[in-house]
Amino acid sequence: MEEPQSILTDTFDRTHSYLRISLTERCNLRCYYCMPEYGVPLMPRPDLMNSEELFEIAKIFVEAGVNKIRLTGGEPLVRKDFPEIVSSLATLPITLSITSNGVSIDRHMEILQKHKIQTINLSLDTLVAAKFKKITFRDYFDKVYTNIFRLMDADFKVKINMVLMKGVNDDEIIDFIQFTKNHAVNVRFIEFMPFDGNNWNRKKTVSLKEILSRIKTTFAKEDIIKLPDAPSDTAKNYKIAGYKGEFGVISTVTNPFCDTCNRIRLTANGRIKNCLFSPTESDLLTPFREGRDIRLIIQKAMKNKFAMRGGLNTPQQFNDLNEHSENRSMIRIGG
Ligand code: SAM
Ligand code: SF4
Repeated sequence: MEEPQSILTDTFDRTHSYLRISLTERCNLRCYYCMPEYGVPLMPRPDLMNSEELFEIAKIFVEAGVNKIRLTGGEPLVRKDFPEIVSSLATLPITLSITSNGVSIDRHMEILQKHKIQTINLSLDTLVAAKFKKITFRDYFDKVYTNIFRLMDADFKVKINMVLMKGVNDDEIIDFIQFTKNHAVNVRFIEFMPFDGNNWNRKKTVSLKEILSRIKTTFAKEDIIKLPDAPSDTAKNYKIAGYKGEFGVISTVTNPFCDTCNRIRLTANGRIKNCLFSPTESDLLTPFREGRDIRLIIQKAMKNKFAMRGGLNTPQQFNDLNEHSENRSMIRIGG
């Protein structure tokens, strides 16, 4: 007899085992590529999943086949019940990780260590303090930079997420790669993506091709080593021969990786987003609170997943900002 298909398999036969949960829409930074300048209307707290609901809903996904959960936001560490959330999720048979801006990670290292969260994705878009302030509207460069070293000293595996924007920080590509010379971090250059209210423009993106050609002006071809990419890895990974760290390029705009997508997103108010670029969402929290079985809603949401970027198939569609206006801003999705 044929095995029944998982509720997390879509019509393109992609099975989704990686759930990214946004804990909050709040943040202690104001990165302009993520947070619209007019701000975002914050949802009333009762509309958000509380820690028990979050755990129970996550458990349903794990029973359906999710084996990896990432906590994100907004800034996940600003949520006061972060320790409770981590403690409960850590009892599930999953790899648990977080993405943080690093501002207050020093205050949470103990809880992360206790629950064996080993890899931290930390966002840092520049190595220049003044530029950090311009991008994030906050003066926390030193805090974040120092926290990267604290994490490394405590043996966390650190991935640095750098959103690359032409004319803003693309002059720092080589500096970030030089940072991997003596530090065993993985720097990930992320193409600037369009979301509601972030003034995106394709001309501000820097493609994989462009990054590699710039790197070739500094490093000899034979020293730029292509590393194997894991299945469903969004990054193309490289290292410089003899350097302790590595770097990768995540090119959603110029080189999408939708064919092998295994990601699902759950917003802080308990809505499933089957794709980062999907304007539609399915509410799980209301039916969950009403005691209804949410598995059918999850299954339907997965069956509605488009082949590529929430249905933005052509570069023309992707470049048209009107096509993105119904999607949330990044801070309200959870990157
Ligand atoms: N506050 C945390 C942080 O900054 O790492 C977690 C949430 S943030 C939305 C998750 C990731 O999304 C970060 O690495 C951030 O740089 C990235 N991100 C936000 N807006 C983006 C955009 N427009 N294009 C590409 N990446 C973006
Ligand atoms: Fe906050 Fe992260 Fe968005 Fe920056 S990228 S505004 S740190 S949620």
